[in-house]
Amino acid sequence: MPTYSELAAPAALITFILGLVSGSFVCEVADRLPRHENFIYGRSHCESCGAVLSWYELIPLLSFLFQHGRCRRCGAVLSPRYPLIETVNGVLYLWVLFRYGLTFETLIGCLLASALLGLSLIDLKTMEIPYGFNIFILILGIAFTIYDRTDLPGHLIGLFAISVPLLLIQLISRGRAIGGGDIKLMAAAGLLLGWKGIILAFVLACIIGSVIHLIRMKFFGQGRQFAFGPYLSAGIFISWLYSDALISAYLSLVL
Ligand SMILES: [Zn+2]
Repeated sequence: MPTYSELAAPAALITFILGLVSGSFVCEVADRLPRHENFIYGRSHCESCGAVLSWYELIPLLSFLFQHGRCRRCGAVLSPRYPLIETVNGVLYLWVLFRYGLTFETLIGCLLASALLGLSLIDLKTMEIPYGFNIFILILGIAFTIYDRTDLPGHLIGLFAISVPLLLIQLISRGRAIGGGDIKLMAAAGLLLGWKGIILAFVLACIIGSVIHLIRMKFFGQGRQFAFGPYLSAGIFISWLYSDALISAYLSLVL
């Protein structure tokens, strides 16, 4: 029997490769969903000459590196967007693996990371979160609630803890202050994280969002309108990994 530490390197490598491959899918969905293109059957092609890419040109990250970032036919410089997003997705998977090891939490965490990455990319571009992403996260929430039977009320309260207050704010502001997609995201992720986790996620999102957005307004002339999805996603991801540690650290400070 190999020991656990002997398995660590292969497990990390396989997890990273899975992250690259699904990152490629995330990127494809993020590009094609807002354009209503079919993201399962449509073949990828060079943006410059239109040549359909063959399977060996579609290997995440590696194809890009071996082709030196250029199309094999016309030599056009390929966008680094795909390899970049694939790598980010791979690193997120590794991060989850290092936190939770070979567990159900890691499986859910990786699927969650990809969904959050995809919806963030789309929200940045279109200011909307497609409902499919929220349904996907809701399914993760249902699966994890069944798995984590010890705290059924915690998960169910999580469904409403942030989403209902946000819904009230939306009604009062007549939809200007917060988008419907953000509210559904906080409901779905609330079921997954439980009420403590989703409150932490929302607080983190507000802190990260206000810091980054103040910088963007001051130095890059950004308007007041901004996509909240990426910040909510960052809060949800951090909360999934570290909610217990962060909440007990906070409580030890105030109590
Ligand atoms: Zn080309």
